[in-house]
Amino acid sequence: MNNKEIMELSDKALMPTYARFPLALVKGKGTRVWDGDGRQYLDFLSGIAVCNLGHCHPAVTRAICEQAVKLLHVSNLYHIEPQAELAALLTEITFADKVFFANSGAEANEGAIKLARKYQSDKGLADKYRIVTASMSFHGRTLATLTATGQEKVKVGFAPLPEGFDYVPYNDIDALAAAVGDDTAAVMLEPLQGEGGVHTAAPGYLAKALELCEQHGALLILDEVQTGAGRTGTFLACEAENVTPHIATMAKGLGGGVPIGALLAVDEVADSFGPGTHATTFGGNPLCTAAALAATRTLISEHILENCRSASEYFFDKLESFAASTPAISEVRGKGLLIGVELADNGDAAAVVEKLMEKGFLVGTAGPSVVRFAPPLTVDKSEIAALMVTFEEILEEQG
Ligand SMILES: *Cc1c(COP(=O)(O)O)cnc(C)c1O
Repeated sequence: MNNKEIMELSDKALMPTYARFPLALVKGKGTRVWDGDGRQYLDFLSGIAVCNLGHCHPAVTRAICEQAVKLLHVSNLYHIEPQAELAALLTEITFADKVFFANSGAEANEGAIKLARKYQSDKGLADKYRIVTASMSFHGRTLATLTATGQEKVKVGFAPLPEGFDYVPYNDIDALAAAVGDDTAAVMLEPLQGEGGVHTAAPGYLAKALELCEQHGALLILDEVQTGAGRTGTFLACEAENVTPHIATMAKGLGGGVPIGALLAVDEVADSFGPGTHATTFGGNPLCTAAALAATRTLISEHILENCRSASEYFFDKLESFAASTPAISEVRGKGLLIGVELADNGDAAAVVEKLMEKGFLVGTAGPSVVRFAPPLTVDKSEIAALMVTFEEILEEQG
């Protein structure tokens, strides 16, 4: 099918939940993707920070093909080899002692909220159930995670929402100190707010949050769904802050493109998820964990984090020197290869995204006036340079 045929069919039978771009992508390799009419694009969004190794990385493709002829699904009634291997690897390379596999970021966060409440309840503190989150956060679209999300727009029309969530301004340690109390089960924060506009945690903010949690017997949950799997230059973003949470969640980049989520926790907390407390039919299934195992092994063994950090430095240099020379940009933010460019005077980020698409570059937005870049961590400097030439042209035309 060509672009038009795919789009017509798509609009006919799918619920209209997404305001999609008028584009159907049918093929990808590395940083490049192709549409139904055979046109090539450089992908600086990676399926929203998912394809961290680039599209169709051979190690991931091979693992999927090998697993697909061996065993696709058995359920968690049985032990699963790649699931166990992936869990062991994640406990080796992160703070976590134990892992639970889900199918998405929202599900991993839903699990984190349940685990925090169950942990407090197991200690005889059933009233200690409140979860403190940040305004402008994003934690997912299930009822509990959209409630945890500090943005009103995702909640409209879905009342009644689960009870027990409090919100504080991000990066405001005094507000957090005022909100965390004896009834707080957990504080849930993103190390870098992706959807909320690409805002990094201020130096020391996460460490202070952990300290407050420890003072009040609350747990620190880090939502690393977008930042995890190397996106900010370390496997988990919290490593760079020297902060060890009690719980962290991952999803987007973990599977190299397949749907998988993970709930990571220290032993003391993980023990609260005893038999029968939490479950999923698909979570950790052989196909997805085989892919994620290959993706994670590749990520940590093939200098991909180093490439992320050096490509990031190059990208930030380019963006910052351009920002210094144009009135069109008010700020360049982010970390690693999760970068937000705030357009001046509430500039229209969606219009810039569309123009870049016309010129063969896929990027995203993070709020109305922020252009978001999240290329594969394997992106090379010539690809960044090519994007920058076009990005500068577009912003200069506008101004
Ligand atoms: C994308 C995202 C989620 C939700 O993940 P889904 O897989 O879409 O459910 C949760 N938290 C953060 C920080 C995210 O970026």
